[in-house]
Parts: sequence; structure tokens; C-alpha cells
Amino acid sequence: MKPFDVYPLFPIEPVKANGSWLWDKTGQKYLDLYGGHAVISIGHSHPHYVESLKAQLDKISFYSNSIQNSLQEQLAEKLGKLSRYPEHQLFLCNSGAEANENALKLASFVTGRKKVIAFQKSFHGRTSGAVAATDNPKIVAPFNANHEIIFVPLNDEAALSNAISDQVAAVIIEGIQGVGGIQLPHDSFLEFIAKKCKENNALLILDEVQSGYGRTGKFFAHQYSPIVPDIITIAKGMANGFPVGGVMIHKDIKPWSGMLGTTFGGNYLACVASLVVLEVIEKENLIENASALGTYWMEKLKEFSSILEIRGRGLMIGFDLPEQLSGLRKDLLFKHHIFTGEAKPNTIRLLPSLALKKEEADLFLESLSHEFFKSQHLV
Ligand code: PLP
Repeated sequence: MKPFDVYPLFPIEPVKANGSWLWDKTGQKYLDLYGGHAVISIGHSHPHYVESLKAQLDKISFYSNSIQNSLQEQLAEKLGKLSRYPEHQLFLCNSGAEANENALKLASFVTGRKKVIAFQKSFHGRTSGAVAATDNPKIVAPFNANHEIIFVPLNDEAALSNAISDQVAAVIIEGIQGVGGIQLPHDSFLEFIAKKCKENNALLILDEVQSGYGRTGKFFAHQYSPIVPDIITIAKGMANGFPVGGVMIHKDIKPWSGMLGTTFGGNYLACVASLVVLEVIEKENLIENASALGTYWMEKLKEFSSILEIRGRGLMIGFDLPEQLSGLRKDLLFKHHIFTGEAKPNTIRLLPSLALKKEEADLFLESLSHEFFKSQHLV
């Protein structure tokens, strides 16, 4: 058997990693400014992370959610404190898509409605159908099976006003659109959505799967505005590569036994990995680092006249390039040994570890300057 060939692969195989660096099997070293889609939050192979997972493996790695697991409580408590949502409740699952599935399901349970408003260019994951194919009226209300999605343009208050009604279960929005090319909802737009949701008794779901966990210089990207979402979904940076997702749920949404569930979610290893990430973020002031280095990078990137537009907050940055520079991502990788991400048609995405160092940020700027100069663009 072979892997199902769905991923366009770069011919590089990392075999070792440390901090913001990767090594391939030939010994070549790479600067990682992408962290596998914003997953590596505290840096690769952080010693506290490695030691804690090893220690947990020596004790117990898995049982089930039908027995007590105080690590889940410790994680919920720490996450509540650091994210400033001490009163929300935490449901643990395994990925971003699963977190959003559970959020939408909850919204339908709470409101009894099936319409959902989402935004153009949004990305919330790749699942569908598992709930629809489940025949158990206790856990699947009929309206959960097929949400009716209405797409509206980001930051368009009139379009949102037109779309929202007392038939809408939820509005779901990314803290910052990632896959869509680092598009920011205006802080005032988030406030507007929150107001409209309240007026219509619809839930506000903030998808912080990519933008959360300190990446933008606040714990959550939406915390630049004063809103309190009903549901916040989290995943990527949450456990530095261990597959974990979560749903943070307002205290007014009451659970019942069997309402949500999963086999693997919240297992011992996942909890330890998630707890260590929070400990390191706190101890090493990584949110402050993300904010400071992000501001520094944005200022420096603005000096390159080859760049058409720069968007972002903290260490979640995207910049648009002219067509002539469409090969830049590959040049950075193969000539300068720097991993970055992209969004179509021609946007470079930077999502490094929150523990990035200034020298590493500068190395990227030097490589960029070299490439722009070579391509005869003004630097
Ligand atoms: N939500 C957002 C904002 C994402 O960026 C992603 C993944 O890129 C997802 C959800 C889906 O997460 P996963 O791939 O873990 O299912």
C-alpha cells in the first residue's frame, strides 16, 4: 500500500528539529518560519515538552473519557486563566475541523436552528457528513445533519444585517482569516457581529484555530476588540504538534450527558502536551515576543517597495507580491533554506514559532532583500 497521493510534496524530508530550525536527512539546516501551518507555537523539540511527554508515556498514555482524568481539569483551569476566559467550559477533541463541527452542532442544539452565517474566503476545516450518517436521536438533532450556510463578504455590515435573522443558529468567523490570505476582520466589525447575534439570539463562534494561542500578540486575535464569543474553537498551536483541538463554551450553555463526545479527545498525552505549551508560553513570555517581533517585521517589510501589501498582527503575517515574484517561496526554500507558507494567488504567509529570535527574523529580511535585489526590483 502507498499513501493516498493528495499532497503536493516538496522533495525535502526533515529528520530533526530544534527551536525554529529543521535539518533534512542530508544534514542541510532550514529556518522554519511556517511551523507546519502555525502548529509549532513554542519551538520544535522544546526540552520541557519532550521531557513531560516522555514522563507521561512512562505512566499512562490512554484510557477513555468515561473515567476521571484530572489533567483535563488542570488544562481547562490553566487555559481559562491565560486566555482570560476563566468561566468558559472546555470540550477537548482532536483537530480544528472537529472543534468547528462541535461548535456548529452546539449552536444548533442551543438555538434549534440550522442556518449559519460564514464569510467569503473563510476556511474552517474539511469534515462533513459524519453527524448526518449517525442514527442516534439522543446525540443528533435532525437540524444538525445539514447546516445551511450563508456566505457574506468580510467586514460588510450591510450584508451581515441582511443575512442575519431569527432563523440563524450562529455566525462563525476566523480571528484572522489564515488560508484566505491573512484577512483581518475590523475590530468594529466583530463588535457589530456580536451585537447582531445578541439581537437575533444567534451564537457567535470565533474560530481561533490558526490565529489563537498568542500568535497575534494577544491570546486570541479577537481580543483586540471587547467582544465575548459564545464559543471559541482552538487547535493548531495548542499542543505544538500533538493533535489536539478544543471548544471553549460560554457558561450559559449547559451540557448534558452524551451531548458531545469523542474517543481520543483529551487523552493524557494530549493534555500534557497542551499544558506544557501553556506553561512555556507563560514562562517565556511568548505572547509579548510575538507582539514585539511581529511589529518589528511589519515595519521592516514595509520598507520593501517590491511588496504590494502587508497584513497581519503579531507573528501571523501575510504579504502580497507582484506576478514576477511568484517564485519567491520556492527560492526562499531552495536557495536560502527558509520555510514559509503561501495563500493563492501570490501571498507569502509567515507563521513561525512564537519563540522566534530577532536574529532569525533578520535572517529572513536579509534573504528577502537578496531575492528582491536579484529580481531587479527595488529593495
Ligand atoms: N479553522 C482554521 C481557521 C484553520 O486554519 C484550519 C486549518 O487550516 C482549520 C479550521 C481546520 O483544522 P484541522 O486541519 O486541524 O482540521
